[in-house]
Amino acid sequence: MALATLLCACSPSDGENTGGGGEQPLKRPEGEPDALTQVAPDTVSDLGEEKRSEDEGGVDVEIAYPTVPGAEPFAEELDSIVEEKADDYRAAVSGAEALDMKGALSAAGPDVLAVRLSLEEKNSDGEHTGSSTYWYDTATAHTAYSTELLDGQKGLDELNKLVEERLEEDGVEPEALYPIAGLYDSVGFNPDGDVVVEFDQGQVAPASEGALHAVVPREDAEPLLSDFGRRAQETATQVTPDLVLDEAGTPKDGGAAEVPGRLGPEAPADVDCSDPESKCVALTFDDGPGGRTPELLDTLAEYDAKATFFVTGEPVREHLRTVRREYAEGHEVANHTVTHPDLTTVGEDRVRDELAEVNGLVSRETGERPVLMRPPYGATNDDVASVSAELGLAEIIWNVDTNDWKDRNASIVADRALKGAAPGAIILMHDIHGTTIDAVPEIVKGLDEKGYSMVTVSQLLGETEPGESYLDGAPDEPEDDKGEDGSDKKDEKKDDKGSDESDKDEGKKDED
Ligand code: ZN
Repeated sequence: MALATLLCACSPSDGENTGGGGEQPLKRPEGEPDALTQVAPDTVSDLGEEKRSEDEGGVDVEIAYPTVPGAEPFAEELDSIVEEKADDYRAAVSGAEALDMKGALSAAGPDVLAVRLSLEEKNSDGEHTGSSTYWYDTATAHTAYSTELLDGQKGLDELNKLVEERLEEDGVEPEALYPIAGLYDSVGFNPDGDVVVEFDQGQVAPASEGALHAVVPREDAEPLLSDFGRRAQETATQVTPDLVLDEAGTPKDGGAAEVPGRLGPEAPADVDCSDPESKCVALTFDDGPGGRTPELLDTLAEYDAKATFFVTGEPVREHLRTVRREYAEGHEVANHTVTHPDLTTVGEDRVRDELAEVNGLVSRETGERPVLMRPPYGATNDDVASVSAELGLAEIIWNVDTNDWKDRNASIVADRALKGAAPGAIILMHDIHGTTIDAVPEIVKGLDEKGYSMVTVSQLLGETEPGESYLDGAPDEPEDDKGEDGSDKKDEKKDDKGSDESDKDEGKKDED
């Protein structure tokens, strides 16, 4: 049963708003106080529709969304967004049967457009509903995430607090509610200008509670909005009759790090690891998340240390909220396949399935697809590299092996990590072993005392090349000594295979 969380003390509408120019009063648009504004399609001149069905692998995907003449870049972005959602759905959802994505205009004016996609999934375990709303700035031809309505990360953090209060007041104890773009992907306004935040079914509460939403009154939300957010609010609260847009401009490259709640690989570190004076190390944890990974996250937070988690399929399904927390706390979530096979032995199609499924799982949980993978046992070849390239994944090996799977002894593990650490080191551990969790406080404290910055692999390496493989990120290492296809590095990494060969027996064990 759907649970409504209408809690706003919305100001009664006078039915009319005055437009910016003040020449003529603009009408209040349609919509309920607890839902995003709905724009009547006939107010937009020559409104079009993109509509298609896809049937791939027994999964029926229906796509339909409105297109506004003059906003072609928006339609193009929406097209890649729905395709990515469809890909992730097909790859990651067990028992996927059908996905229906229907778009409707939620704001339409000369400055700003918005399309809200309502999502309906039919899986073997039932039906799930959700939504996702995208905004468009006609002046810059920029398609904006919902969180770009907020004034930076600070605005989103504040909104997150208000939303949590609203949900709690209504008797919902939200789980893993973090200020990330993946959760705040459907934010908009009702016709009175109050902020409406929508969550997918099962996203922050049990699926039995339905798709939740929270309404934050205009006066509370207004100080948290960006300039764009204020323009969006104005547009969503009035009807522009016979809307005709000027010709579309060319979108400028936005820089994803500026999007509130996107904490992915582009997010800047506090330190520039390419500076030869810097002392960066990357702690990496494979095969998880495990039952004790939250403890590990507590330790990392204590020292403001960031890490990279190469997650594996079944543990991800078992500890989904831990994956969300890893991401929300600024760690990197990366791909370590679904079933942890030696990828050199399974054929290209299986490699693709193994990697695409984890990409989909992580993307659906965090809002961000991984850009890094680690082949189990460090075993790779040209086929693995080319599929990785196709999926936008760089291959990350390691140059310090703690052998923590073999020596289940916290002080031995800590000792190896600390002795092996050097600027640019990528240190291999597994967060499914209790002894490793126990070793981490000593490692993090020791590295901190030695003046190391603990960063994610993407922060260590800077921008990585999909399909390329990396052993470490030593800042002084000349980057031009590898062959055009990166073959030198690949040869190097083969030497490492011995050490994790026995990982094959251990890697799939349950966490302690
Ligand atoms: Zn592994």
